[in-house]
Amino acid sequence: MSDNDFMIIDEEEKEEKTEQSSKDENDSKDDGYEKICYICHRPESVTGKMIELPNNITVCPDCMQRSFDAMTNGSVDLSRLMNMPGVQFLNLSDLENMQPKQQKIKKKKEKPKEFHQLDIRNIPAPHKIKARLDEYVVGQEYAKKAMSVAVYNHYKRVAAGASDDIEIEKSNMLMIGPTGSGKTYLVKTLARLLDVPLAITDATSLTEAGYIGDDIESVVSKLLAAADNDVEKAEQGIIFIDEIDKIAKKHNSNQRDVSGESVQQGMLKLLEGSDVEVPVGANSKNAMVPLTTVNTKNILFICGGAFPDLESIIKERLQKKTSMGFNSELKDKYEHDKDILSKVTVEDLRKFGMIPEFLGRLPVIFTLKGLDKDMLVQILKEPKNAILKQYQKLLALDEVKLDFNDGALEAIAEKAMEKDTGARALRAIIEEFMLDIMYEIPKDDSIGEVTITREYIQGTGGPVIQLRGQEALLLES
Ligand code: ADP
Repeated sequence: MSDNDFMIIDEEEKEEKTEQSSKDENDSKDDGYEKICYICHRPESVTGKMIELPNNITVCPDCMQRSFDAMTNGSVDLSRLMNMPGVQFLNLSDLENMQPKQQKIKKKKEKPKEFHQLDIRNIPAPHKIKARLDEYVVGQEYAKKAMSVAVYNHYKRVAAGASDDIEIEKSNMLMIGPTGSGKTYLVKTLARLLDVPLAITDATSLTEAGYIGDDIESVVSKLLAAADNDVEKAEQGIIFIDEIDKIAKKHNSNQRDVSGESVQQGMLKLLEGSDVEVPVGANSKNAMVPLTTVNTKNILFICGGAFPDLESIIKERLQKKTSMGFNSELKDKYEHDKDILSKVTVEDLRKFGMIPEFLGRLPVIFTLKGLDKDMLVQILKEPKNAILKQYQKLLALDEVKLDFNDGALEAIAEKAMEKDTGARALRAIIEEFMLDIMYEIPKDDSIGEVTITREYIQGTGGPVIQLRGQEALLLES
């Protein structure tokens, strides 16, 4: 090839580029509307580029093709078709009266982003990730730290790629903690901070392929859907599998274990990294949906579970150890150890019924604490989007100040503790008594301030109402 040839190619490229940029300019004249097909009424974002006909008529490529096919296919008797009910023909003379606006629909507005995202290509140091988690998640210091480091390593590994010979291990995680301690919440917050797609699934619904239930690979198609069918985005996403303890191997079971051990076996490849064929835009494979391949190598898997009875396995192990030594009086020590779960080892989890290969693919294991009363009070008022702040904002829109005194917060926390579902109970309790407040307060314009008291929560008194510019008034309920 001579130098001249290069020149010519360059010129051609330039022309192409200028054409492209003028096209882009046209496209960028965005009036917030998009074209819809005259025949099938689907918008351009679904059908692909519209074909423009005279009189501002636009038809999608599918309908255009179908029209051509119908015309060129001699087997269709057009005169008979005309008489069939429901059959319409495109009459070009009708098109003259069409208003161009009618062929457009309003585009969906992009949702404003709630978080100031972290950039996964330039992943911030673990302490910065943790600081962002701190804004939303109360307590669980160890879990937040472990998670931040694991995520940091994971995305660094993704960014580094497989360029050199040292392959960094995946940082899939296993979270152990009682219900309502914030496992799902932590993962959700993390995914939103990192702006990566997240799929949450329940291990109990997973079965080996061929059995009733979702097959294991369906989690990947959920992730693809969460990534708006963008394979590249999905491949950097997070999959959270909850209730992982429910697929523990059953002890003393002679039956074939459909939902337990075999599901763990089935998940091994997925956790490690493999190509999975998933349907696009549907959650089951059938002849009608196109398939695409998603590689799970860079997908971060986080498994979570409450692991009931794990504590007794840990206790048993620890007690066995002490009863062998001199310190047999320490035996009782573990009986009342609240933090016993954090002493978990892989061996304990094996005993619980998780298979070693499965545990081997979840190298980061950490525990979450059950929430105590103080933590529940903090959850009520401290996080960025705390429930109380939400109610306060709602009432502030009516120019009413809402307060909860310390007694009220404690009473709510005590009630939540009784339910034993962690922080999950808080919202239900608050919603129950806030209903009356939200109903009554807007009735009376003169109310300026409401203070919720312990008595009101316990049903023995009312909230303190303060009228605008007046002394506090105790409302008897
Ligand atoms: P689980 O551990 O069972 O997955 P969740 O994460 O679903 O519990 O917690 C339920 C709700 O409780 C969350 O939506 C969140 O609002 C609240 N919550 C739980 N733990 C915390 C926490 N440590 N900090 C702030 N909110 C929390």
